[in-house]
Amino acid sequence: MIYLDAAATTQVKREVLEAMWPFLTGEFGNASSHHTLGESAARTLTDARQTVAGVLGCRTSEVTFTSGGTEADNLAIKGIALASPRGRHVITTAIEHEAVLESCEYLRRQHGFEITYLPVDGFGRVSVEQVRTSITPETTLCSVMLANNEVGTIEPIQEIAFVAGSRKVPVHTDAVQAAGVLDLNVKTLGVDALTISGHKLGAPKGVGALYVRGRVPVEPLVHGGGQERGRRSGTENIAAAVGLAKALQLAESSRLWRVGRLSGLRDALIEGVLRTVPSARLTGDPTHRLPGSASFCFPWTSGEAVLLQLEQRGIVCSSGSACAAGSDRPSHVLVGMGIAPEIAQTAVRFTLGDGITAEQIEEVVRAVRDASNAVRSIGR
Ligand code: PLP
Repeated sequence: MIYLDAAATTQVKREVLEAMWPFLTGEFGNASSHHTLGESAARTLTDARQTVAGVLGCRTSEVTFTSGGTEADNLAIKGIALASPRGRHVITTAIEHEAVLESCEYLRRQHGFEITYLPVDGFGRVSVEQVRTSITPETTLCSVMLANNEVGTIEPIQEIAFVAGSRKVPVHTDAVQAAGVLDLNVKTLGVDALTISGHKLGAPKGVGALYVRGRVPVEPLVHGGGQERGRRSGTENIAAAVGLAKALQLAESSRLWRVGRLSGLRDALIEGVLRTVPSARLTGDPTHRLPGSASFCFPWTSGEAVLLQLEQRGIVCSSGSACAAGSDRPSHVLVGMGIAPEIAQTAVRFTLGDGITAEQIEEVVRAVRDASNAVRSIGR
C-alpha cells in the first residue's frame, strides 16, 4: 500500500512509542500525587512541556496540553472570546477546519457573537486588507489557520498578526497541518495562540497542545481539579504529552531537510498528474503551499470513484479532509475558493508523509492516469 493521506493521520514513530513506553508501564504516577512516583510524573510533564515550548519559542507556562487539535481550537476560540472584555465579535475564515468553524458557530448561537467569515481568493488565500477592515472595537479574536488541511495553502499569518496586533486584537492560528514542516516560532509568527495536534506528526491520536501568550485571558472549558494551571482540568496524560514532545522535537530537528525532500516529491507528483491527466486541475496556491500537499479536481469524474480506483491499485488518499470524507456535501474549502460544487465533488487530496519515495510517486502518477481514465470510461 502507498499511503498518501498524511494530513488525515500518521503512524506513531518508533522513537515516540519508545519514549512513551515507561510512562505506560512502570512510571505510571499521577502528576498531582505527593510521592516519588507522582513527583517523577510531574517532572516528566514539565520536561515535555519545555520541549514543546522550545519548538514554539514560548514559555512553558504558555503551553496547555489537550486531547488534540479539536480541543485546542475549541479552547482557543471559546476560551479567548468569552474571557475578552472587548465585546462579541470574532473574525475567522470560510475555509477553517470544523473545529474552528463549529466553535465560532457555538459562540454565535449560545452567546450572541457576531462572526465574520473572511472570504478567500481562488488559491485559498485570505486578504490581509480584509482582516484590517473587519476589525471593530468589539473584536475579541481573529482566528486564521496557518495552512489549510484540504488544499495545503499557507496563509499570510505574520502580516495578519501584525495588522490585528496593531489594533490589540489577539490572533489564533490553527497550525495542525503546518506543524513539522513550517516554522512554529510564535514570536516570528507574531500570534497570541497556536494549536498543534500529535497524530499528524507521528505521535498518537488524542493529544495536542495550545499555546496562549502570557497575558491573554482564557476562560477554561473543562472544570475540575485545576490541572494545566486551571486551563484544562483532568489528570494529565503523561505518556501522550511525552509522545507529542518527542514527535515535535524529531520533526523540528530534521525539518528543513524533510521540507526539501517532500517539496521535490510533491512537485514531481503535481507535474506528473497535470501532464498525464490534461483535464486535471490543481487546487490551492501554486507557491504558498505545504511541502507534502498536492490536491486536484478531476472534472468529469467523481472524487469518490477515483479514490476507489486508486485503492484498487494500492494507493490510499482522500477526497478532502477526513472529516468531510464520506459526506455528499462538496467541500466548504473548495466552494469557499469559488470552485463550482460539481467540480468540487471531483476533488482528490494526496498528502505525503516521510516514508514516500520517488519511485512510489512515479507509480502514483501512473495509477492516477489509469484511475481517472477508468472512471471517465465507466461514466460514459
Ligand atoms: N485543525 C486542522 C487544520 C486539522 O487538519 C485537524 C485534523 O484533521 C484538526 C484541526 C483536528 O485535530 P485533531 O484530529 O487532533 O482533533
